[in-house]
Amino acid sequence: MAQEANPFESLQEQVDDAAAYLDVSEDVIERLKNPERVLETNLSVEMDDGDIELFRAYRSQFNGDRGPYKGGIRYHPGVTRDEVKALSGWMVYKCAVVDIPYGGGKGGIVIDPADYSESELERVSRSFAKELRPFIGESRDIPAPDVNTGQREMNWIKDTYETLENTTAPGVITGKALENGGSEGRVEATGRSTMLTAREAFKYLDRDIEGATVAVQGYGNAGSVAAKLIEDLGANIVAVSDSSGGIYDPEGLDARAVKDFKNETGTVSEYEGTEAITNDELLTLDVDLLVPAALENAIDGDLAKEVQADIIAEAANGPLTPRADDVLTERGVHVFPDILANAGGVTVSYFEWVQNRQRFYWTEDRVNDELERIIVDAFDNLVDAYETHDLTNFRTAAYVVAIQRVVDSYESSGNWP
Ligand code: GLU
Repeated sequence: MAQEANPFESLQEQVDDAAAYLDVSEDVIERLKNPERVLETNLSVEMDDGDIELFRAYRSQFNGDRGPYKGGIRYHPGVTRDEVKALSGWMVYKCAVVDIPYGGGKGGIVIDPADYSESELERVSRSFAKELRPFIGESRDIPAPDVNTGQREMNWIKDTYETLENTTAPGVITGKALENGGSEGRVEATGRSTMLTAREAFKYLDRDIEGATVAVQGYGNAGSVAAKLIEDLGANIVAVSDSSGGIYDPEGLDARAVKDFKNETGTVSEYEGTEAITNDELLTLDVDLLVPAALENAIDGDLAKEVQADIIAEAANGPLTPRADDVLTERGVHVFPDILANAGGVTVSYFEWVQNRQRFYWTEDRVNDELERIIVDAFDNLVDAYETHDLTNFRTAAYVVAIQRVVDSYESSGNWP
């Protein structure tokens, strides 16, 4: 994987690229390129053998102009302060692009969860929740799942928070299990927005998604659901991968069967009847649609020169370096950015939070219908900006829409103190 770009610098560059098209002064743009605050903490947690281990953890609250900070918590050995800052900034613009009333935040713990037992992970999660308690809250900052976290971790964090606060406040965190105040449709929401974005993109570009060939890099919650739902549109998933490598079948894979196989064996590799390929080979396959659904910087400037896909829908956050973006724009590849294509996760988190606060729960159909409306509206707004400003790529269009919304809230409420 390419490591040429610092994600925080990538975020700042993306904001600058869009600012050039906006009538916003430089001092205001500067605010939009830096987090308001970052919590850095070292969790000391007892291991099963009685030893104490230290885990570094962060929570970045990037911008709260449009509402409470919102964004996930990832558990990954590669978590850094700059990565968390970048991810928190992307959340600001993601929430603004889909016009939900949130700012942006993100958290992370430097840990490889595969190396720890469930009870150790529970103590790590509760320890982080205890540290986060003064900073989070239903109206303050609302965490959610991200890479390597899910319902289990969210339930622990909610329980710790509610116990310490001596209250019930399910809306303090989203992505919970249904029986813990979670929402129907939340698990599939990220991949669903990638499918909706791809569907609208093909329509806009006057291409048929039925029969289109698709490669998906990363087969976790975002990638596997996107693959399954895009397959349901009649597209042909020809290759998928995870961190151990990829599989390719020009005749097309069965997205659901591959997911079952991964659940059983831990990886997509060696799925029968397929050819083994590397992640880089997958990213440069001659397909109609490429869906990067793993981590940041999957495609750098050099690899971008080899990409043969016509359309990219980013299910991961930040999968292209700025250099890759430039190369792909120059080469006429249409990139539909993360802050739209994976915004379904946070959008259904918003629905979960609304349901929690009203203590009134929706059907799955209602969740999916409202999500579709929001993603399709956001897509249309993005295309408007693309055409109005005569832009060369859709990422800049998304940032133009999003930054303007954040600036409007900031300027109308004023700067204080
Ligand atoms: N971690 C997800 C994201 O990057 C979801 C965030 C949320 O639901 O708040 O968008």
